[in-house]
Amino acid sequence: METYKGELIDSIVEINIESTKSWYSKGSLWGCECRQCRNFLELASKKQLPQQIIEILDGFGILPKQATYVCRLYDNDKGHLYQFSYRLAGFMLSDEKNTTKSFEWGGVRCCHETYPYGAPDFPEPHFDIEFYATLPWVLEETQN
Ligand SMILES: [Zn+2]
Repeated sequence: METYKGELIDSIVEINIESTKSWYSKGSLWGCECRQCRNFLELASKKQLPQQIIEILDGFGILPKQATYVCRLYDNDKGHLYQFSYRLAGFMLSDEKNTTKSFEWGGVRCCHETYPYGAPDFPEPHFDIEFYATLPWVLEETQN
């Protein structure tokens, strides 16, 4: 079994790479069709998310549009702050943090997302990698 045991962001984790890749290879996509989510999916499909996010996901065989949770939190002066996460098979060996590790584009942490409705059949145990990023509006239609 292919596993990764070590640091991910600021947490120590053990990830079952095989189970994670196998779940994402089924091709599940984030399914909410509200405008805010469609804007996210448009950015994700075109890989217009911050490069570091794309690289982290790529390491687990995850496409950016395969988020297991997406929420537009609020608008700020630079764009739209989104929270989105991806489920990983495995567990956290260190305590869950309430704070995120900061990047120029936002933050990221490992945690347990309470509303994982994009992944009802995900193998146990699991945890989530959660991103906060300010993203542009790219849909032709208006945001409201
Ligand atoms: Zn939505």
